[in-house]
Amino acid sequence: MRVLLIEDNPQLCATIRQHLTGEGFVVDVVQDGASGEALGYDPLYALAILDLGLPGYSGLQILANWRRARNPLPVIILTARNSWKERVAGIDAGADDYLGKPFHLEELTSRLRALLRRSHTKTQQGHLHVGPLTLDESRRQVFLGPDQTISLSAMEFKLLRCLLLHQQQVLSKETLYMHLYAEDAEPDLAIIETHVMRLRKKIGEEWIRTLRGQGYQLHVPEPGP
Ligand code: CA
Repeated sequence: MRVLLIEDNPQLCATIRQHLTGEGFVVDVVQDGASGEALGYDPLYALAILDLGLPGYSGLQILANWRRARNPLPVIILTARNSWKERVAGIDAGADDYLGKPFHLEELTSRLRALLRRSHTKTQQGHLHVGPLTLDESRRQVFLGPDQTISLSAMEFKLLRCLLLHQQQVLSKETLYMHLYAEDAEPDLAIIETHVMRLRKKIGEEWIRTLRGQGYQLHVPEPGP
């Protein structure tokens, strides 16, 4: 699991990173808000820890921009101690949880785990819909329209799920590979092309758009006449 940490205090960054790394997370640290905001759109991240008090660039604004762009990234905000107004503003702007500084690293880890569990459960139990396409995540079935059931391999299902969850984004082969396979595996990008080709054959060519040199994106076809 890769976590994005946006925090301008280098000492705190180092402490959090060290602790979370020990807990099995991969942590990317960004100390300036603009880069942090841009990175937050990368679907590689399972979660962001966002400091609201960033110099020259408000953490609250980053959060508001993400949510306006329908970026579903789970976010824990770090707020100044006793600043209940900041916490309320953060939750209103779309934060999933918050921690007041100073905090215990154990509490951060436990909130982070709980949040990951919640966001995971939400997608596991529900159905994902887009246009006429429905993914039943618990039964691992895909339906196209009211009466067509499509049978997919485990990898094809994962691939389609990933494209669906990140509809607003173009996903590179590298990104898709890291979603589908263990991080330490040697990336074999040709296998992604094969999965995409097979998936297209099953759900229809028009559903997956290729953006040359960038990657793939889900595309909801116009309804036929
Ligand atoms: Ca700060």
